[in-house]
Amino acid sequence: MTARVLIVDDIPTNVRLLEARLSAEYYEVLTASSGAQALAICESEDIDIVLLDVMMPEMDGFEVCRRLKANPKTHHLPVLMITALDQTSDRVQGLEAGADDFLSKPVDDTQLMARVKSLVRLKSLTDELRARALTGQQIAIEDALRAMDSISASGGSVLIIDTDRRHAERIQGYLADHRVDILTEPADAVFQVAGAGYELALISMSLDDFDPLRVSSQIRTVEHSRNLPIILMADAADKPRVVRALDLGINDYISRPVERNELQARVRTQIRRHRYAMELRESVNNTMALAVTDELTGLYNRRYFDRHLNVMLGKAQEQERDMALMILDIDHFKAVNDNHGHDVGDAVLREFAARLKRNIRGVDLACRFGGEEFVVLMPDTDTGQAEAVAERVRQAMAEKQFEVGPARPLSVTVSVGVALNESRVDTPESLIKRADVALYRAKRGGRNRVIFDAA
Ligand code: GH3
Ligand code: MG
Ligand code: MG
Repeated sequence: MTARVLIVDDIPTNVRLLEARLSAEYYEVLTASSGAQALAICESEDIDIVLLDVMMPEMDGFEVCRRLKANPKTHHLPVLMITALDQTSDRVQGLEAGADDFLSKPVDDTQLMARVKSLVRLKSLTDELRARALTGQQIAIEDALRAMDSISASGGSVLIIDTDRRHAERIQGYLADHRVDILTEPADAVFQVAGAGYELALISMSLDDFDPLRVSSQIRTVEHSRNLPIILMADAADKPRVVRALDLGINDYISRPVERNELQARVRTQIRRHRYAMELRESVNNTMALAVTDELTGLYNRRYFDRHLNVMLGKAQEQERDMALMILDIDHFKAVNDNHGHDVGDAVLREFAARLKRNIRGVDLACRFGGEEFVVLMPDTDTGQAEAVAERVRQAMAEKQFEVGPARPLSVTVSVGVALNESRVDTPESLIKRADVALYRAKRGGRNRVIFDAA
């Protein structure tokens, strides 16, 4: 996984050092020697991650980070802050500025690669979801892309995999904020995580008779735990394998002896990211479905129809093909509500939609236009075919009473207005208007009938 990394540091030696390390790992590197320059680059270039020195003259790293996070154009750029000392106050300040992760100087190679990889992975996930959101038909997704800070990271569900129970219990003691299970049989890992809803796995690199990387990759291979974050607990001697593990998609690692505060911070970060990603995914899916569907009937909604009509009419005109539009309005529907209640009214709407769908072709698009009005768009349909479909639909409602809920069977009829795209001057609005005029004539003519627009 390669990425474009921006290195920001006022001291040229530091920049060159980091640049050399990242370039050796095939990252594309851009550099900036001041905060102002960094902000300008982030605005104009496609950057995947920012490595940001804290101590710089004029504008320090905290301020740069704050500005990046405050700008909607750069809000989603992960920022990895490089602090001179491993000072808690620096970290707190960095967190408040919105930094995503930290490294302390002198920068350790393995740590650098671990953090960069993990942030790049996060970035590509959010990029993908944002892209899908954009194609999701004008969805108001921005709400869903809330700052990650607002997501809680406590009460997480964590699994420790370690053959050394005493070590595992000590780690468990450090994580009092979370619900922690211990597994001392790595062979059972896949079964243990199945359906258990874990949000993080902490895996020891020293498992008796077991390859921790194999355990990790097994967890990753199984569908339901594919996105489970994994942190490895590694000894200094494990470094080369940690590097391989990071390539396998391990999210992070922590050196042994495990330091309580660092562990807590890394666990919180992974849980928060995981929750953020899950929430984003769910909200994208929900919003996409909600954005185009009418909740009551399951048909497409008006918003979707409007867009679709626009596209389809353009196509039909371009290729000089027929297209028919019919508007259907249930007769005396108000009386159904008045006599039987709103719930029965709703049930009638659902049954109406179901019968409608059964009597049109797959390529025809049925949508709830609003209230008890429906509309169907029929591509490649001439007057004769449109007449047949409209008449079939009308009969499908009238010939068999609606049996809904506790009410006795109801007679329901529908009036239909139809229009065809006959001229190049038709617009979506004029086509709907003509069908609507025809519908009005059907109502005036006594209802339960199909009328064609007379254009
Ligand atoms: P017409 O034959 O002229 O179409 O008469 P109508 O009674 O069907 O027409 P009108 O427009 O006067 O009434 C439509 C009714 O549809 C009024 C409204 O309460 C009801 N309605 C609209 N949306 C819903 C809904 O989602 N559920 C239910 N139960 N009723 C709805
Ligand atoms: Mg009406
Ligand atoms: Mg009506």
